[in-house]
Amino acid sequence: MTYRVKTIFGPTLQGEGLHAGMPCVFLRLAGCNAWDGRPATRAASACPYCDTDFLGGDALTLADIFQRLSALTGPGQAATGRRHFGCVLSGGEPLLQADRALLEALGAAFPWVDVETNGTRLCPTRPANVFLSCSPKRLPHQDVVLEPDWWKVLIPDQERFLDHALASGKPVFVQPTCPDGGPSGAVYAANLARCLDLCLKRGCRLSLQIHKYLDIP
Ligand code: SF4
Repeated sequence: MTYRVKTIFGPTLQGEGLHAGMPCVFLRLAGCNAWDGRPATRAASACPYCDTDFLGGDALTLADIFQRLSALTGPGQAATGRRHFGCVLSGGEPLLQADRALLEALGAAFPWVDVETNGTRLCPTRPANVFLSCSPKRLPHQDVVLEPDWWKVLIPDQERFLDHALASGKPVFVQPTCPDGGPSGAVYAANLARCLDLCLKRGCRLSLQIHKYLDIP
């Protein structure tokens, strides 16, 4: 049994959502159901703003993955009490591949795990410290079916999901898209202003992708 892994990197900071600002390592699985990842098809995809390379990757076993994660966190994170690194399981769409074995192993090794998903796949049974962070995307014939621990709604591109997210009673982050890559430029400023408006008028929380402000991976 192997997983197609695009990259494993860190330590860095989680830039988004409930654990923003906390130290972590990233496990990025390859492949996505929202876009095939080719530049030629980006504009017509569900996510023309996608800033992630999820093509290719290596076939790794669970043991391979944990060997690489341990090399980043230092040996025996749990044994030494240095459990300050969380783990972000991202993609692509990680729930195309993540199974119960992977989620249980990550939950046992890290104090918290964020699964960053587009919400179109159900999640296998998971430990209580494995959280679902859903940035919902509207895909042809693939509804958002997940009930996450929090929502991360991209503004303005996915604002159509805002009412649904707020009605769930879960925390709702609004995050301005960066059409120019970084958190700068007139379009970004307008998107950020819209997010601030939604925070003040509808009780959303602001998510600013702090890794982009810090220019770290
Ligand atoms: S769901 Fe996420 S990773 Fe997939 S294409 Fe959209 S933004 Fe990119």
